[in-house]
Amino acid sequence: MNTFWLSLVLGLGAGLADYIGGLLLVKRSPSARSLRYFVAVGAGFMLSAALLEMVPEGLAIYPHWSPLLLLGGYCGVHLLEHTLVPHFHFGEETHHHEFLSARTSYSVLLGLATHTFFDGIAIGSGFVLSRWLGWVLFFAVFLHKLPEGFTVASVMLAGGRGKLAALNSALALGVTTVLGVLVISLAPSWVRFGLPLSAGVTIYVAGTDLVPEVNREPGIRMALVFFGGVVLFFLLRTLAHI
Ligand SMILES: [Zn+2]
Ligand SMILES: [Zn+2]
Repeated sequence: MNTFWLSLVLGLGAGLADYIGGLLLVKRSPSARSLRYFVAVGAGFMLSAALLEMVPEGLAIYPHWSPLLLLGGYCGVHLLEHTLVPHFHFGEETHHHEFLSARTSYSVLLGLATHTFFDGIAIGSGFVLSRWLGWVLFFAVFLHKLPEGFTVASVMLAGGRGKLAALNSALALGVTTVLGVLVISLAPSWVRFGLPLSAGVTIYVAGTDLVPEVNREPGIRMALVFFGGVVLFFLLRTLAHI
């Protein structure tokens, strides 16, 4: 399979995981409890991939502007997910109407859709540079997709929207992910902006969205699972470079 189609198929896989995450919430699936492991493993893996692959690669292809684009990616998500939006956090939305109205649930969706667009940009950028980087960024994105779809669906329900709106919003996150992959695949020269920007987004999602959810869990088990994500990254890197 050529790289264009491979990145698109993996982008579709990541987008589908958003939808399945939404489905788990709407169906009240008991297996949703295990999503916390994805949050913890995903956080460790994403942070490792961002700091050890995306940042150095970004600096190599665009030395002058990469650091600023990184900061821009980080600040952009903070603006769209947490500043323009009055209340957002990963995991099930349990605060209901004290913070969430139907209108704010749509602003959460908009903030998350921008972040998921850059999930896709990350996967696409990876494949522009090398298959290894593409696969690694696919894994990084994939690991937090189920909790992401679950989160947006729960925000919709808590905001008073129905199950269909909840599922459609998870689907929308999937679609914007695929769109991000498409944009970079069709305009590969944009990778020098796309990679450092999406690295900033990935660092934000891992460190600022996911890690607080890991830390909310009592005991050290979930904290250790985070390190499991870091170890998983090193394992994958060792296997790929044998
Ligand atoms: Zn809440
Ligand atoms: Zn994401």
